[in-house]
Amino acid sequence: MTVEICFHGIGVCEREREAGEARYWMPEAEFLRVLDALVGLPDVTLSFDDGNRSDIEIGLPALQERGLRATFFALAGRLDDAASLHPDDLRELAGAGMTVGTHGWDHIPWRGLTDHDAHRELIDARGALAEAAGTDVRTAALPLGRYDRRLLARLRGAGYDAVYSSDRLPFHDGTWLRARYSVTASDTPASVQRIIVDRSRSRDVRNRLVGAVKRLR
Ligand SMILES: [Zn+2]
Repeated sequence: MTVEICFHGIGVCEREREAGEARYWMPEAEFLRVLDALVGLPDVTLSFDDGNRSDIEIGLPALQERGLRATFFALAGRLDDAASLHPDDLRELAGAGMTVGTHGWDHIPWRGLTDHDAHRELIDARGALAEAAGTDVRTAALPLGRYDRRLLARLRGAGYDAVYSSDRLPFHDGTWLRARYSVTASDTPASVQRIIVDRSRSRDVRNRLVGAVKRLR
């Protein structure tokens, strides 16, 4: 069973784009300590959502210093935004052996999209990010973690290799829909290690049920 730890911003969130976003930003010193705690752990993977500039300014060098890799789920609609990853940054990430994934165009929930908006979010955004990064984009992270059966069918139809939720569960190798654990400002190396150690414990049962409801609704 693999546990994927998902980061958002690192450092100080100077301007929230969604209410409550700052709660998902981790202070830099704590982020570095969490990474130190993850070095060498088997079956642990990392990702960064939302394409904040801290991904390249703090995240990339910290990963490289520790020999770690991650997937960066960027937003096509923010490629020319001063607080977000630019095409040059995506190319640098890809060149450093990191994976570039898509988090869509506008960071809106993907449930209930019209066909037109779904094309923009699931297809056009992937194309724009692939062109910007100069690499294939084969994985997607669900904005705000929301999904339903219809959306998963759309994503399968779009040919994604894997899709990442935020359901706080481990996943088996080869699983297409992969849950992740998002860290927050209040997480510590100890709390993140506890997630990893507890991966098969019963407290995940509730999250498993919630995931089943989302897949079937
Ligand atoms: Zn997001």
